[in-house]
Amino acid sequence: MKINQTKLLILGGGPGGYVAALRAAQLGIDTTLVEGLALGGTCLNVGCIPSKALIHVAQEFHVVRQAMLGGNPFGVSAGEALINMARAQEWKQGIVTKLTAGVGGLLKRAGVRVVRGWAQVVDGKTVDVETDAQGRERIACEHLLLATGSEPIELPGLPYGGPVLSSTTALSLAQVPRHLVVVGAGYIGLELGLAWRRLGAEVAIVEASDRILPGYDEELTRPVATALTRAGITLRMGCIAEGLSDENDGVRVRSKLGDEFILPADNVLVAVGRRARTQGYGLEALGLDMESGAVKVDLRCHTSMRDVWAIGDLTGEPMLAHRAMAQGEVVAECIAGHRREFNPRAIPAICFTDPEVVTVGQGPADCAGAGIDYIAAQFPFAANGRALSLCGGEGFVRVIARSDNRLLLGWQAVGPGISELAAAFSYSLEMNATLDDVASILHAHPTLGEAVQESAFRALGRALHI
Ligand code: FAD
Ligand code: NAD
Repeated sequence: MKINQTKLLILGGGPGGYVAALRAAQLGIDTTLVEGLALGGTCLNVGCIPSKALIHVAQEFHVVRQAMLGGNPFGVSAGEALINMARAQEWKQGIVTKLTAGVGGLLKRAGVRVVRGWAQVVDGKTVDVETDAQGRERIACEHLLLATGSEPIELPGLPYGGPVLSSTTALSLAQVPRHLVVVGAGYIGLELGLAWRRLGAEVAIVEASDRILPGYDEELTRPVATALTRAGITLRMGCIAEGLSDENDGVRVRSKLGDEFILPADNVLVAVGRRARTQGYGLEALGLDMESGAVKVDLRCHTSMRDVWAIGDLTGEPMLAHRAMAQGEVVAECIAGHRREFNPRAIPAICFTDPEVVTVGQGPADCAGAGIDYIAAQFPFAANGRALSLCGGEGFVRVIARSDNRLLLGWQAVGPGISELAAAFSYSLEMNATLDDVASILHAHPTLGEAVQESAFRALGRALHI
């Protein structure tokens, strides 16, 4: 068998793996990247990007439909609203293709050797790849970086296939289902559930917990729950989906109180979380330390085996693309001999519903749990001119700061189109800003960002516009 040598061997070409490869190449490290499916990984092919493209199509259709139904307050009307799903899917796929081809081009230009095929780990320095083009190849390396990502969790009563969809198949439906049941009111269930509702499906969401987005505080998620109900989505909280009905045209659901009922469904989207991809490619052979089903790493993203590194979803929560990318950069720099750690003060998280939810850093419950004496202040978008002129006005920005020195600890916000505020929130936390710093910065008028400054004013007891 042919043996190729490389200094850094990366398994997985998702946001973690490809960013690590690009940074390593910039630093002059001889790098090989193995990808079994498609460059860009979950994020570019079947995750962040196609989901946001589908959400955009649904939003556009919703606006036209509202105009048709006379449901907007400013007098814009339209004729019949129609959606050509084939065309919408083609447009979405075009974006995916452009981005994944772009990643391929960047890797090529950087001089990274990309091997297409499934990797099988032999030991910490050797990997076999069943390549698409040239049969089996053995690659020997000095450093092995594991970036194999995650996969959707399957429910025993609702295995994927037929009418039961994972997020991947739910993103590529050729037609709008008449009845869609979504199991799980987390990120995927809410983002895709709302998108398909706006495209015309009757949607019911079944969630085991008592409320949607149980990982966020309730005040923050209440406007989302209200919007979902207003959109005509049925929310079945405190319920478990047990399987398909006998005729395969519905989902059997059991509530915590023991009631059983059937929800009609042409399709069922199971979105109950993702698990690190740790099986099927020989990872077990390394005997790495694990934590909650994911590969355990230290602050440098180094595993328990010398010169074996791991990043991204494979290393557990939070499973977010920007975390994977940042970890990839850290590993490349560590291998180049730099002193680096992945130790951010805050990892932003956004749920792209309408309204959107943004959280960065600590919330009230985190502070209370840690015994920190904190100030929390909220500024409602109802008092923000830009929000009102965008037909918004719902939601708020909340700032959290230490009481003693007013150091910022966290931001939470909910409102239409506010995802871009995540950058301002992250900068302020990473730069150790205080309430006084944010209050003293000019925020352009009229923008949603003024709510950021106003929440700081309010926390300092000198709110101007409320
Ligand atoms: P992945 O992107 O999963 O990449 C791993 C790659 O490794 C894959 O391409 C896989 O084919 C390859 N691979 C695995 N095993 C092997 C092997 N043995 N040999 C060769 N190749 C292998 N995150 C956000 O931050 N924002 C969002 O808006 C967002 N939306 C999402 C929407 C959906 C529907 C989903 C499913 C996820 C979303 N995520 C989002 C999460 C995000 O996609 C992941 O956190 C991110 O892709 C993780 O990157 P990664 O590099 O760790 O793994
Ligand atoms: P999730 O963890 O966000 O939500 C899963 C939900 O399913 C939870 O509310 C949980 O209580 C519920 N649940 C679990 N078992 C259940 C059962 N048997 N019956 C009913 N409900 C059940 O998971 P997800 O939505 O599948 O997303 C997976 C991951 O993908 C996320 O954790 C996130 O890291 C990533 N993601 C991020 C974004 C984003 O950043 N905007 C978008 C999509 C996905």
